[in-house]
Amino acid sequence: MVAATFDVLIIGGGVMGSSIAYHLVDEGFKGRIGIFEKDPAYEKASTALSVGGIRRQFSTEVNVRLSQYSLAFYQEFGERMEVGRERPEIGFKPRGYLFLGSERNWPILVKHQTFQKSLGVETQLLNIDETLQLIPDLNTEDLVGSSFSAGDGYMDPHGVLQGFVRKAKHLGVEYVYQEVVEILRKGDRLEGVKTKDGTTYLSSSIVNAAGPYAGEAGKMAGVEIPVVPVRRMVYLLKPPRLFDYDLPLTIDTSGVYFLHETGKQILSGKSRKEEPPGFNFTWDRDYFNEAIWPSLAHRIPLFDKLKINSGWAGLYEVNQWDSNGIIGEHPEVRGFYMAVGFSGHGFQQAPAVGKALSEKIRLGRYETVDVKPLGYERIVEGRKVLEEEVI
Ligand SMILES: Cc1cc2nc3c(=O)[nH]c(=O)nc-3n(C[C@H](O)[C@H](O)[C@H](O)COP(=O)(O)OP(=O)(O)OC[C@H]3O[C@@H](n4cnc5c(N)ncnc54)[C@H](O)[C@@H]3O)c2cc1C
Repeated sequence: MVAATFDVLIIGGGVMGSSIAYHLVDEGFKGRIGIFEKDPAYEKASTALSVGGIRRQFSTEVNVRLSQYSLAFYQEFGERMEVGRERPEIGFKPRGYLFLGSERNWPILVKHQTFQKSLGVETQLLNIDETLQLIPDLNTEDLVGSSFSAGDGYMDPHGVLQGFVRKAKHLGVEYVYQEVVEILRKGDRLEGVKTKDGTTYLSSSIVNAAGPYAGEAGKMAGVEIPVVPVRRMVYLLKPPRLFDYDLPLTIDTSGVYFLHETGKQILSGKSRKEEPPGFNFTWDRDYFNEAIWPSLAHRIPLFDKLKINSGWAGLYEVNQWDSNGIIGEHPEVRGFYMAVGFSGHGFQQAPAVGKALSEKIRLGRYETVDVKPLGYERIVEGRKVLEEEVI
């Protein structure tokens, strides 16, 4: 059964797909846009399970530029997403990102700070006394300083997603709550998609914004995309006493990060290097005891008496090629666009990626942020974008 013809079809209605659709209509695209989403409650979507952090402390220009656009966008998210005088609540907490520095990683933080400043990011290098002003409870015995970007922070990713979806629908984007099971392709041209209920939707422009399922969606179009799902776990913790100050989002030298959640709970996690790819949503308490708690207790002695309240597991959509997003049109399969493989920094990049793909689809070029370095071409040509600050 053929349902309808669309100008653009988007596979995946998470933050990425919804931002692309929003930017298209907001910028005057008059065509018909359909978004397919197989998980209407977003129970397993990476966006809903994310920590919602945004930072400009990256080591490559394209990633800094994407975050600069997105930060400004999130700062005015309420106004932009207003529908019928209602503004979404996203609880943005601009408490800054703090990378702690030891003898080992200090030279890298210094190099990155110089680079970030050259792009207009006011990252500051703090000495121990200045670092202690931000976190008086910190154990600094093995630290030499820290790198701090004020104004960065974190927010409620579910609130952001709902804001985008509501606004996009209000502007006329059609959400179809069906799973795409086939992409119809003839030679190097696309013709549409087929959903699980057997319906065909026609379009010659299809966007892959399928998050951790991006590799699967690529295969449907006959395109190899090196993106795999990798489990990441988050822990919500109750400290023995509540701090009378707010923590910045802090990244310890061990790779463990921690921040303040609602009610002054602590939220923490650490990317597990040996985690195998797979659609695994099991939340493992032992990993906290073995790999995270010792580092937390070392860094803030009070954390020795933390209690685990709860937690969850979600999926990073890891780009095995170079741990960065793949953005743009496929060089051979015309009309097949991608916004995939963000490897843990997709939430923060979604506004800018939405803007970039909207420009690519409407105008055939990038005007605001030049994301060409993140094009699929780099994989074909054997180039990598080496980002040194992937968390
Ligand atoms: C624990 C954790 C913490 C994170 N913390 C941060 C952070 O602090 N900052 C940051 O920037 N990023 C963070 N991330 C990464 C971030 O969440 C992702 O990069 C981002 O949400 C990706 O958005 P997306 O829309 O591409 O994917 P998703 O939100 O997963 O959306 C993709 C959607 O596509 C749908 N879909 C897939 N295939 C099909 C199909 N065939 N048919 C129909 N629908 C389909 C899925 O159901 C899904 O809802 C974190 C991720 C995790 C797991």
